[in-house]
Amino acid sequence: MTAAALIVAAGRGTRAGQSPLLRDGPKQYAPLAGRPALTRAMSTYLATPGITSLTVVIHPDDRALYDACVPDDARIRPPVPGGATRQDSVRLGLEALASSEPDVVLIHDAARPLVTRDIVARVLAALSTHRGAIAAEPLADTLKRDAGGGLIGTTLPRAGLWKAQTPQGFRFGDILAAHQRAASDPGAPEFTDDAAIAEWAGIEVALVPGSARNFKITTAEDMTMAEQLLASSPGALEPRTGTGFDVHAFCEGDHVWLAGVRIPHERGLSAHSDADAPLHALTDALLGAIADGDIGQHFPPSDPAWKGAPSRLFLEDAARRIAALGGRIVNVDVTILCEAPRIGPHRDAMRRSIASILGIQVSRVGVKASTTERLGFTGRKEGIAALASATVMVPSDASAE
Ligand code: MG
Repeated sequence: MTAAALIVAAGRGTRAGQSPLLRDGPKQYAPLAGRPALTRAMSTYLATPGITSLTVVIHPDDRALYDACVPDDARIRPPVPGGATRQDSVRLGLEALASSEPDVVLIHDAARPLVTRDIVARVLAALSTHRGAIAAEPLADTLKRDAGGGLIGTTLPRAGLWKAQTPQGFRFGDILAAHQRAASDPGAPEFTDDAAIAEWAGIEVALVPGSARNFKITTAEDMTMAEQLLASSPGALEPRTGTGFDVHAFCEGDHVWLAGVRIPHERGLSAHSDADAPLHALTDALLGAIADGDIGQHFPPSDPAWKGAPSRLFLEDAARRIAALGGRIVNVDVTILCEAPRIGPHRDAMRRSIASILGIQVSRVGVKASTTERLGFTGRKEGIAALASATVMVPSDASAE
């Protein structure tokens, strides 16, 4: 069975337009806990077994927004420009799918970014025994009809009432024909969802349990609620912090490596590698943030492979480990302790060097220097010490073990 997913994202989302979260445009492209709402819905469909293609209907003005948030997956078909109404947009999406003739189609509103794989799978499964099936929730609230003036006229019986959600799934030929008939019939009523069109066309539609989580985002308050739900879900990104410390002794030489920058000096620094204490401290800070051992464990000084190695290799490895967990680096900060050489003239080069090794903006890299008032080994110019801290965002269920 081929199953196409059709996500309708052509709306302008004006009702939610008041939220500061939505300044950047239509709500389906607004970041929701760090990822665009549309990307979340698309990823959920692509992760559900049985979905063979995915097409998004977009507003013609939103092509750049769409291109910026589309995940990389060969099953994604080119986006389809929508029409004046939601109903037109769905029909245009279905017509674009006609050449590929999927067996069934699941139609989804981009305004429901928190749809789960379970819900999609349940609707898909129901289509093996029903011509149509939609996700829905039994109504829990009592319904009142307003008599005007803010007064209750009547209380409506709620028994047997369900709130329709999406996905709404149908045999492809059925729903395409129903939409085309509705579009060409001037006497057709106004429909608020695809199941209503199917019912009007005489197609039996089953109710499949959805979830309260699969709510429709229409207001700024909904957006906040969705953010909070995602923030408390397993796998949500959370901040973690690590620290690092390193020392290298001066020896004969004419330069030192500090934070990936070669600085001429009357002495060198002694070590198995290039003795870049700031990069070693920073590597440990990043490894500490993800509780993944330390630099000595991953790059033993006893291993001849690291003799004279540029320390950027160690830092790149730590960044790779964070990326492998699905994390990202928020910021890093390094303090270098020495009487000489002077760090100030090289500070910006060091920040650029670290930013380039880690693939982050220079604004996320701090480099500071201090002396120890001629006290201790740094004060006696016997060596250089470096401290570092790093903050990373990683999925709450990530583990380097
Ligand atoms: Mg070291």
